Amino acid sequence: MDTYDVVIIGGGPAGLGAGLYTARRNLKTIVLSETLGGQMALAHIVENYLGIESITGIELAEKMRKQVEKFGCEFKLAKVAGLELKDEIKKVKTTEKEYSAKVVIIATGSHYRRLEVEGEEKFIGKGVSYCSTCDMPLFKDKKVAVIGGSDSAVNAAIYASEIASEAYLIHRRDKLRAEEITQEKLKKSPVKIIWDSVVEKIEGDKFVNKIIIKNLKTNETQELELNGVFIEIGEIPTTEIVKSAGVEVNEKNFVVVNDKFETNIPGVYAVGDVIGSFAQIIVAAAEGAEAATNAYLYLKGGFYGERKPTDYGEKKKVK
Ligand code: NAP
Repeated sequence: MDTYDVVIIGGGPAGLGAGLYTARRNLKTIVLSETLGGQMALAHIVENYLGIESITGIELAEKMRKQVEKFGCEFKLAKVAGLELKDEIKKVKTTEKEYSAKVVIIATGSHYRRLEVEGEEKFIGKGVSYCSTCDMPLFKDKKVAVIGGSDSAVNAAIYASEIASEAYLIHRRDKLRAEEITQEKLKKSPVKIIWDSVVEKIEGDKFVNKIIIKNLKTNETQELELNGVFIEIGEIPTTEIVKSAGVEVNEKNFVVVNDKFETNIPGVYAVGDVIGSFAQIIVAAAEGAEAATNAYLYLKGGFYGERKPTDYGEKKKVK
C-alpha cells in the first residue's frame, strides 16, 4: 500500500487546484483520476479563466497538470474502485493498487445528463454524442442538431455551424440561459433555432437519419432529417462510489459540505461540480485551493498547531 497525506479523487480543475495547494504545503499528495481535466478537457474553447484570454480545455488541463507536478503533487490516471473513509487512515482502492491517506478530497465532478428518449441509447456513437469537442469534426458537411439552452449547447451549436452543412439548436423554451456574450455570438452565426421544442425520438438505420420533435406550445410534431444529435443538457454529479463509502449526499445527489468543504466524515472534503457549485473552472479551482488549505489546518492543527488535529470544525451547511 502506498501512503500519502492526501489522496485527491478527480483530476479536473477542482482536484488539481486542491493538489497545487496541498503540495505547496509539503503534504504528500496524489491525484487519482480517470481522465486529465474532467469536463474542462472537453471544452472547445475557454475564454473566462482569469489571466488566460483563450485556450482549449485540454491545453488548460495540461498546463494545470504540469504546474501541480512541478510542486510535487503526483498525478495518476486510475479508476477508483473502492473507498474506506470512516477510520482516521482512509483507504482508496483503484483497479490496480491501494493507497492510504489521512485526508481524501473528493473532486469527482459530474457526467452527462441523458435525454432519456427512444433511440438515444441505440445510436450513441452512431450519430448521438454528448461531446461536441470530441465528435463534431466527424460531422463535416453533415446536418446536425444540438439540444439544450445553456452555454454548452449554444457553444456546441456555434461550433457545429463552422463544421456542419447545417446546424440547428433545439431548446424547450423561447429563451436561452446561456451567457449574453455567447448569445450574441449565436445571433451572428448561421445556426437555426427551433424554440419551445423537445426531441421525442431519434431514428435511423445504422446511423441516425432523423429526429422527431414536438413543439410544446402547439403540440405539433415534425420530422427533422439529419446525421448527428449533440445532447448538451447539463450534468449530473458523480457520487456512486463516495455514497457507498458513507459520504452524505442531498436529494439532488450532490455531496453535502459545510463552509470548509468538509463532508460528514472527518478528514474527507469535497469540491467542485460534485457539491453542486457554479460549474465554472475558476470556481472549481478556487474551491480546491480553499479545501486544501482547510485540510492542511486539519492535519497540522492550525498554522501554529493551536488546534487539535482532530478538530474538524463546525457543521454549518451552506450548499
Ligand atoms: P446547464 O446550465 O445545466 O443547462 C442545461 C440546459 O439543458 C438548460 O438549458 C436546460 O433547459 C436544458 N435541459 C436540461 N434537461 C433537459 C431535457 N431533459 N430536455 C431538454 N433540455 C434539457 O448545462 P451546461 O450548458 O452544461 O452548463 C453547466 C454550467 O457550465 C453552467 O453554469 C454554464 O454556464 C457553464 N458553462 C459555461 C461555459 C462558458 O463558456 N462560460 C461553457 C459551458 C458551460 P432549461 O434552460 O429549460 O432548464
